[in-house]
Amino acid sequence: MAVAAKSEGPAIGIDLGTTYSCVGVWKHDRVEIIANDQGNRTTPSYVAFTNIGRLIGDAAKNQVTINPINTVFGAKRLIGRKFSDACVKSDMKLWPFKVRGVGDKPMIVINYKNEKKQFAAEEISSMILSKMREIAEAYLGLTIKNVVITVPAYFNDSQRRATKDAGVIAGMNVMRILNEPTAAAIAYGLDKKAMTIGGKNVLIFDLGGGTFDVCILQIEDEIFEVKAIAGDTHLGGEDFDSRMVNHFVQEFEKKHRKDISNDPKALRRLRTSCERAKRTLSSTAETTIEIDSLFEGIDFHSKITRAKFEELNMDLFRKCTETVENCVRDAKIDRKIVDDIVLVGGSTRIPKVQQLLQDFFNGKELCKSINPDEAVAYGAAVQAAVLHGGVEKVQDLLLLDVTPLSLGRMRQTGEFDVFVPRNTTIPTKKTKVATTVLQNQTGLIVDVYEGEETRAEKNKLLGQFVLRGIPPGPKGKPQFTICFEIDANGILIVSAEEKELCLENKIIISNYRDRGGLSNVEIAKVIKEAEKYKVIKYRTRNLTRK
Ligand code: AMP
Repeated sequence: MAVAAKSEGPAIGIDLGTTYSCVGVWKHDRVEIIANDQGNRTTPSYVAFTNIGRLIGDAAKNQVTINPINTVFGAKRLIGRKFSDACVKSDMKLWPFKVRGVGDKPMIVINYKNEKKQFAAEEISSMILSKMREIAEAYLGLTIKNVVITVPAYFNDSQRRATKDAGVIAGMNVMRILNEPTAAAIAYGLDKKAMTIGGKNVLIFDLGGGTFDVCILQIEDEIFEVKAIAGDTHLGGEDFDSRMVNHFVQEFEKKHRKDISNDPKALRRLRTSCERAKRTLSSTAETTIEIDSLFEGIDFHSKITRAKFEELNMDLFRKCTETVENCVRDAKIDRKIVDDIVLVGGSTRIPKVQQLLQDFFNGKELCKSINPDEAVAYGAAVQAAVLHGGVEKVQDLLLLDVTPLSLGRMRQTGEFDVFVPRNTTIPTKKTKVATTVLQNQTGLIVDVYEGEETRAEKNKLLGQFVLRGIPPGPKGKPQFTICFEIDANGILIVSAEEKELCLENKIIISNYRDRGGLSNVEIAKVIKEAEKYKVIKYRTRNLTRK
């Protein structure tokens, strides 16, 4: 008997986190955050390759200590980046799994059933996205195609495109790539609708597992406008874990005269215990670490107080407050007129983090009404429902996003000519008129840069194109219209046009592909590859259900 095809379900919102991911859907006039097959409302962003198959989520994380070199996490740190990036190099030192550069694209190398396999970060992320979709499909009993995926506000074009590619590889229609702070604000706006009356300034403080984002929004007449963003690509719960790991590595050395820092398995086991201890310390003053046979058969038993944990991390906690200060300054507002401070991300549960933030705002109450692990997925689910249609209650919300860095072109003098200033609301379109600066100039070079330096070359070159075919003649005659356009997904199109001469050229800044992204052919290949893995995926599902 033929099995009836499941009908297509609603659009979902996925918070694709560095350490954990979360999925939400708009149902019965509200957002529901969906628990996975283990009953958890967030799922570790982990993929493991084992002798019995591929594991994703809790099942992958749970076996990390016995299979550290074939368990991949933190793929979000690699996505859309070059292998030669300094941060890729420094991240690699912390990972037990291998990463190698293939034409300056970082590839994760694992051993699967005695065979060496290489995966791009997009592929690993696509596996996590597939898992999140399966969680939603199992709950709704419907197939899901449409999705909104969130990314940190500081993600550049390359990282956004690569995240979108991950969705495509997972066979999804990515309706929107949404900034995480914006998503959190959407969630908050819905939860506290009354606050939009009269307009408010809201600060989103998002301290997750691996990233830190601060965002100031002005909410007026149901319009969310991003006034400023600030953050740190490498600050979060994992860093707090690392500090505790280092502390115990030293303690082990002192106690047993043995260095465990070169043993990936021992380090992973210690890290897992430290993360657990850290969570416990958010609600108690002291906790213990007990790991049997941690290194060369030696058991490790110790304890740590909340005060010690705070001491180990105080500089990092202070860095958070400094970032808030910078963001407030960027938004050109006084901290006194910040009406609400919203906590997002699991690490905002740390009491010291809350206290420092509260002190900075002169004792103002912090908003914790939305579960900090779920706020981003909540907002993504709302946005998904808005884009998918049929959601009257939220349809009217006008959602604005912002450019994290200034965009512009290099002038003949080498100066950076800003077209789209930093923190401009997107989608946006900015045009300027230019002309030739040389006699008989036959081409116009447009170098597209991103950054805040006044000299263009000190910024990041995103791409370049030439408008050719200018007939030789006196300088200053042709009138070029140069246009910078950013669509709702944060993708940049730069064009140059000379109407009278009928000349036109443009660049879609997808040169992230040169900077570490996948080409269309490669995407098609990995989709095919992903299909192959489907067989294992179902086996994996059985495995995760004990
Ligand atoms: P997120 O990326 O927002 O899911 O945040 C995950 C991070 O939050 C991880 O580093 C967790 O260890 C951390 N976290 C979760 N719960 C707590 C807690 N109760 N206290 C401290 N950190 C926590």
